[in-house]
Amino acid sequence: MKATIAVDGPAAAGKGTLSKALARYFGFAHLDTGLLYRAVGAGVLAGGEALDIARTLAPEALENPDLRTQAVAEAASQAAVDPAVREALVAFQRGFARREGGAVLDGRDIGTVICPDAEVKLFVTASAETRAERRYLELVAAGQAADRAAILDEVRARDERDASRATAPLRAASDAVTIDTSDLTAEEAQAQAIAIVTRALA
Ligand code: C5P
Repeated sequence: MKATIAVDGPAAAGKGTLSKALARYFGFAHLDTGLLYRAVGAGVLAGGEALDIARTLAPEALENPDLRTQAVAEAASQAAVDPAVREALVAFQRGFARREGGAVLDGRDIGTVICPDAEVKLFVTASAETRAERRYLELVAAGQAADRAAILDEVRARDERDASRATAPLRAASDAVTIDTSDLTAEEAQAQAIAIVTRALA
């Protein structure tokens, strides 16, 4: 089986947790495509040139735990505006998507650009306030300093940039099923997603 599940949506909507749960449930591999852009962003912060980094990115670079910071997310979102950077990352994502055994990819443009023929497309969203609050609680739980208002500003600014860029903007594919997780627990969102994917693959 070579089914692909595309999961798109704005920052901190719960795509990662949901995608991992889908991958576990269906026995598929999972790729968090945000990590590709984060690896480019981290390289830029370290003084590199975005396109060089994107063209020479090694899969091991995705395992760097330092990719999870807000500064890297912001640098990733800036690098992700460049069509040449995006193009350099396409082949890796498409290769992953068609692997034997099935794949779940989460990002911003999976259902629209990377895998327009994906067997299932989900668009996972939540209000900006809900997403910022979740991010705030995650940072506090991890023992990091966090400022609610600053996180909300950061989430809004990144969504605005991701949704308004000319190439591969953040948007739901016309055939995607939207899951709004604002009033759902992670378990409820997962149950909805599993039901949708089960129907689609039947
Ligand atoms: O998903 P995550 O928040 O880790 O992504 C970081 C940034 O990478 C996003 O804000 C977005 O600009 C970019 N990105 C993208 N396309 C993807 C995944 C991420 O442009 N498929």
